[in-house]
Amino acid sequence: MSDIRYKRVLLKLSGEALMGGQSFGIDPAVPQRLAEEIRPVYEAGTQVAIVVGGGNIFRGLSGAAAGMDRAQGDNMGMLATVINSLSLQDCFERNGMDCRVMSAIEMRQIAEPYIRRRAIRHLEKGRVTIFAAGTGNPYFTTDTAAALRACEVNAEVLMKATNVDGIYDADPKTHPDAVRFDTITYREVLRRDLKVMDSTSTALCHDNKMPIMVFDINHPGVFMKAICGESVGTTVVE
Ligand code: UDP
Repeated sequence: MSDIRYKRVLLKLSGEALMGGQSFGIDPAVPQRLAEEIRPVYEAGTQVAIVVGGGNIFRGLSGAAAGMDRAQGDNMGMLATVINSLSLQDCFERNGMDCRVMSAIEMRQIAEPYIRRRAIRHLEKGRVTIFAAGTGNPYFTTDTAAALRACEVNAEVLMKATNVDGIYDADPKTHPDAVRFDTITYREVLRRDLKVMDSTSTALCHDNKMPIMVFDINHPGVFMKAICGESVGTTVVE
């Protein structure tokens, strides 16, 4: 195994990834597979912060499309991310990893409140630290929460785990001739309107020079390879 390149990273997992073969909710096999993916990195001493989405349970935009108040729907979406975070914590602990959940919306009986300095302390102690409830504000996404928390805890890179092995110039599912980028600039992502992350999160990373790596989490061992600096997808840089 090559050398560890990153000491502290933020891993963004989509809620949809947790569905596995299901059409809703959490397929228990997925947290287990994620635990197996993360554990070698944890044991190698890289500090792992995680932001997980909630799209497998509820999205505010879908609620709004059905006539709901958008902010109310977004609150439900943020609560969905807490359910996913607790599921991951349970599984990671069963796999021998120390893990803390910190929520942007206070619910002290089940998760710690998010306090930046405490989050950094957890990471320094080697605990997998999951940031739940997005940013705590409606009208944002968990991609933006990931960008924000990555900047706040001084992560070296935001690693976005998806079901596609990088960023393409068109959707590879509908365009078989789509070309994958090894690297691309933030400006190009925004200019071409590539749907890798929403524009708010891309702009936040750009403004704060936070590199973004995009890779397919379904390839076993890919997280460790990314941690070792191997080229596993697309990197978004200045
Ligand atoms: N959300 C929010 N503020 C945030 C993060 C998330 O209101 O800071 C809500 C929003 O409704 C979103 C839902 O939570 O649709 C789930 O998050 P997201 O869609 O980002 O999850 P993913 O696509 O990663 O599964």
